[in-house]
Amino acid sequence: MGIDQRYEILFEPVRIGPVTAPNRFYQVPHASGMTNALPRVRAAFREAKAEGGWGVICTGACSIDPSSDDAPLPFATMWDNNDIRAHALMTEAVHRHGSLAGVELWHGGASVMNRASRLPPLSPSGIPWMATHVGFMGNLRPKTMDRADIRDVLRWQAEGARKARTAGFDIVYVYAGMGYLGYEFLLPEYNHRTDEYGGSIENRVRFVREMIEVTKDAVGKDCGVALRVSLEELRGRPGANQPSEAHELIELLADVPDLFDVKMDSSPTDCSASRFTGEGSHEPVIDFVKSLTKKPVVGVGRFTSPDTMVSQIRRGVLDFIGGARPSIADPFLPNKIREGREDEIRECIGCNICISSWHDGVPVRCTQNPTAGEEWRRGWHPERVERAAKPERILIVGGGPAGLECALTLGRAGHEVTLADSGRAFGGRLTFERTLPGLAAWNRVVDYRLGRLNRMTNVSLYLESALGADEIIDLAPDRVILATGARWTKLLYSAMEIPVGRLDGPNVFTPDEIAAGRLPDGPTLVFDFDNYYMGGVLAEHLAAQGVPVSYATPAGRASAWTIMTNELPLVHRALSRRRVSVATLQVLKSFDGEAATLAHLFTGEESRVACRSVLIVGLRLPRNELHDALVARSDEISAAGIRGVDRIGDALAPGAIVHAVHSGHKFARELGAAAFQPYRRDTPIVDAAPDFETRTAAE
Ligand code: ADP
Ligand code: SF4
Repeated sequence: MGIDQRYEILFEPVRIGPVTAPNRFYQVPHASGMTNALPRVRAAFREAKAEGGWGVICTGACSIDPSSDDAPLPFATMWDNNDIRAHALMTEAVHRHGSLAGVELWHGGASVMNRASRLPPLSPSGIPWMATHVGFMGNLRPKTMDRADIRDVLRWQAEGARKARTAGFDIVYVYAGMGYLGYEFLLPEYNHRTDEYGGSIENRVRFVREMIEVTKDAVGKDCGVALRVSLEELRGRPGANQPSEAHELIELLADVPDLFDVKMDSSPTDCSASRFTGEGSHEPVIDFVKSLTKKPVVGVGRFTSPDTMVSQIRRGVLDFIGGARPSIADPFLPNKIREGREDEIRECIGCNICISSWHDGVPVRCTQNPTAGEEWRRGWHPERVERAAKPERILIVGGGPAGLECALTLGRAGHEVTLADSGRAFGGRLTFERTLPGLAAWNRVVDYRLGRLNRMTNVSLYLESALGADEIIDLAPDRVILATGARWTKLLYSAMEIPVGRLDGPNVFTPDEIAAGRLPDGPTLVFDFDNYYMGGVLAEHLAAQGVPVSYATPAGRASAWTIMTNELPLVHRALSRRRVSVATLQVLKSFDGEAATLAHLFTGEESRVACRSVLIVGLRLPRNELHDALVARSDEISAAGIRGVDRIGDALAPGAIVHAVHSGHKFARELGAAAFQPYRRDTPIVDAAPDFETRTAAE
């Protein structure tokens, strides 16, 4: 199949200063959690996207000097010769596929705490970035930059650019977004300076202009120089000569960089979860940029629909379709469009698990793409699966995310697969969860896999097929894989922070009962110590159906773990909109049918909440009955010729959907593998003695 003519515009080459991108698919800089300590993992992760057709592939934030040190968050460095070698692995990999490699040179200013380097953070006026997230909090306040500091940063940027060119990069960034140093000069809240770098917008732009100029002087003949800038807050600020200061900024810099990479100001709006924001949400903030500059513009918006992409280009919003999450979920998205296989795109679901990996300080994980970050260490290719030497007849029981992914991967390997589920639709937990407020896009996990499975002649799908040990022994497949999921329990939570006891009673619910269609009677207390999305989204769901809801949690915030996925502020807003009261640091002690007794987690002080029902969103445990029944009949299993009974996904260890998909994929990949190792360990590149000679390493 060939390309749909409507999409040909997406494959036009576009110039960026002295270099030319082969098409309009631009993987913008995004955190990968891989750092220079995992150079092969990183190179292979980025290479998959180049192979899949992305015309430009960028690094994430890459520090130009030890005074920009984001530890314990993972970040890349461009400090010395070892760093150059580490990055060269990626640029070589990207060039092998004809794509351009970009590097996001970065100085974090006041928003880094320099925990590793112990250098004072730098800032225009000594104003700190104050985080409420404990992982980002710090006790060190930044130094106010004097002129010598400004000259130093400009020099580090130029040196970083030369090192980047030596490493093989084609595009070099100046970063003025998301609270980092360049951005701090732009915003009057951070910039109280009275010299030529503060005051008017012309003065506040000066530092960023000089950063671009020194980069162009250093490498502008060979490399495109990009400005990455956040426009959200400046767009909300009226300008003197233009509608907003964002307009004035672009007008002032219109001819200075070779490319504008435009974005929002904070992680929750820049990389917003689909639960609260749709595709193309940046457009109202960045739509004016192309009207003020002739330079190409790239922006993002979790684009997965080629029609939306074409519309962005044709309407003059963007020149490049920027993608971070869509490129993680499907590194082969451009090639699939070019080959007329749009229906095979593995669309990002907008869950932001990938962002949580960065917050956790580990290599990127993706719900939709279990191979992300595993290309080198486990040798998993996002599109290719090795054919099985000896195809087997495999029965998978349970068609949730784990079972579907396992069936798809085993099917691609050539096995004869039967997938059976007791439900009326495939999807497992998602058959209910996709109906909850904001979670419809999550069903892409099911849609993508079912779409592929339905076309495979070696995979048979059976619904409304509850299987027990008798049926399985009768079927006598070569192998049985149990993907039977988990169920929520009515266990409570102790002040020692472990699940204890159990609350029973006619009006005590778990999410499974809500999923089965029961609606709690009267005012309902949601007690949540799962801490991810389920408690918050069920509170929203019940409130939307007219149930008065209060919410209590032992954590410090509602849906506390959603701080990792950029959702937490929006969860609180959604609960407030639904008039759900939120009580934090509370454990549920008892419920008498009229009221629940809560106790403060630390002080033990008790309070009562009037409610007729309680919904406990706490611990999930595997549905193990079938597994136990099969194990108890192991002799009959062997006699039937069944070689193995294994569990995957929630049936093995209950987790988020990302864990279930990875578990199903991993089992399928490792089936029949001759040798097993958990994963290959990457090591830093140490060609030169690590010397921190940051000033001389380039040339
Ligand atoms: P996971 O996230 O691990 O994929 P889910 O809970 O989403 O787990 O899905 C488990 C699926 O297994 C559900 O659709 C459930 O109906 C199905 N299931 C559980 N037990 C059986 C069984 N004995 N026979 C057939 N299907 C089953
Ligand atoms: Fe998209 Fe979720 Fe994958 Fe991130 S983890 S790329 S948001 S599907």
